[in-house]
Amino acid sequence: MSNDKPAHDVRPARLTDEQIAANFADMHPPLTPSEAIIDADRCYFCYDAPCTTACPTGIDIPGFIQKIRSGNLKGSAHTILSENIMGGMCARVCPTEVLCEEACVRNTHEDRPVRIGLLQRYATDAVFRDGTQLFKRAPDTGRTVAIVGGGPAGLSCAHRLAMLGHHAIVHEPKDKLGGLNEYGIAAYKTPDDFAAREVEYILGIGGIELRAGTALGKHISLQELREQYDAVFLGFGLAGVNGLGLEHEQLEGVANAVDYIAELRQAPDKSKLPVGRRVVVIGGGMTAIDIAVQSRALGADEVTMVYRRGQEQMAASRYEQEFAQTRGVTVRYWAKPRKFVVDGARVRGVEFESTRTPGESWSLEADVVFKAIGQKVAWERLASTGEIVELRDGRIAVDPDRKTSLAGVWAGGDCVYGGEDLTVSAVQDGKLAALSIDHYLKGKGLKAGA
Ligand SMILES: Cc1cc2nc3c(=O)[nH]c(=O)nc-3n(C[C@H](O)[C@H](O)[C@H](O)COP(=O)(O)OP(=O)(O)OC[C@H]3O[C@@H](n4cnc5c(N)ncnc54)[C@H](O)[C@@H]3O)c2cc1C
Ligand code: SF4
Repeated sequence: MSNDKPAHDVRPARLTDEQIAANFADMHPPLTPSEAIIDADRCYFCYDAPCTTACPTGIDIPGFIQKIRSGNLKGSAHTILSENIMGGMCARVCPTEVLCEEACVRNTHEDRPVRIGLLQRYATDAVFRDGTQLFKRAPDTGRTVAIVGGGPAGLSCAHRLAMLGHHAIVHEPKDKLGGLNEYGIAAYKTPDDFAAREVEYILGIGGIELRAGTALGKHISLQELREQYDAVFLGFGLAGVNGLGLEHEQLEGVANAVDYIAELRQAPDKSKLPVGRRVVVIGGGMTAIDIAVQSRALGADEVTMVYRRGQEQMAASRYEQEFAQTRGVTVRYWAKPRKFVVDGARVRGVEFESTRTPGESWSLEADVVFKAIGQKVAWERLASTGEIVELRDGRIAVDPDRKTSLAGVWAGGDCVYGGEDLTVSAVQDGKLAALSIDHYLKGKGLKAGA
């Protein structure tokens, strides 16, 4: 490797404040009223609409689009939010190109799909703007449910339980609610503190209480929750990060993509974040794309994503891969890291080997290497939870109602087996679990005096 460039070029303020602001501007700016009407008019209002089937939360898409056409934005938002209380966030972050919009009958070679995500945002933004509460609590049932984790799964479950008249007590170790909506999703998908505004809206229904600074496994056990509450919902996501299993992985210069992304999301001034000149990202999912694009947006000169398989196998959709490329990210396929190149106590590059041509290898110099090869449940921090609840492939096994193997315990979101690892799927899990918990609590009869 050449030594004529400055070693370890990692520093803040690679771009001007204006450039950073432009790079992190809203990825899909909202529709204007006339654009919304034009797009709504393109919908064929299919009977048995395939887009609704393709939406994991089953939103009545033709129904909400029809209400936009007739100018009833509040009614439209109600149609969306009654199936998906995070319909505002999902409108911003759903990979619609592989969900509802992929299924749209207008999605052909000659035509293009109705912009369902943007229409959903148009309708829900109207409600968030004026804070209209569209949902009311049912009369108090006197039943109390422990929610573990205040991410999309936990908050969706809590909101539905509140609608049904139960109390939801959310146990969350972090300062802010929202889970990865607040700490993970790329900043240009959810600018203007939208995640926090949505949480506020959700809590606005009442009946949801927060136990901040409380972690399952550290401050409270699953057994205690089962004893103290009428039911328990586990939605603690994936707090662990997969490692590469290579020597020097702990050295300076190697970082977890999710940790840096969380820092970026919470940074009041992004120009203060140190950024490498040459960044290497290992992985091929949404997290890899997000760290790569955001590193470029902060001013990294060269960002290379390296993935062990081909374009077709990447977890990130084709649309996301192309998006990263248009933002100046180089993607290299069919290679995996063999070893880190070390200079003193610091990593200066990575040696890769081809996963297709045996014996072929090449190197990349790097000021920072990000690991983005997936997250996992941090069972080591959850005391005996992983021993008493049945698991499958390291995640919690649940039935179609999101019931676990333990009586009175439900689970959903990223921590359960078989999910999509998407915000919208977590919201659906929370909703289904709440409906099942309600059924269970009603079966037990309401508490005396309730
Ligand atoms: C970088 C990144 C980008 C992503 N981008 C997208 C995207 O663009 N679109 C999309 O649809 N999906 C995206 N996802 C996936 C999406 O964010 C998740 O699928 C979704 O947040 C899962 O929700 P959840 O509630 O299961 O978990 P989380 O959002 O992880 O929430 C879990 C909550 O549980 C809390 N918790 C953890 N441990 C404990 C404990 N011991 N006790 C109590 N609480 C605990 C956490 O602090 C957190 O608040 C992305 C994920 C990542 C990592
Ligand atoms: S929630 Fe997501 S998948 Fe469902 S209709 Fe909205 S944008 Fe499409």
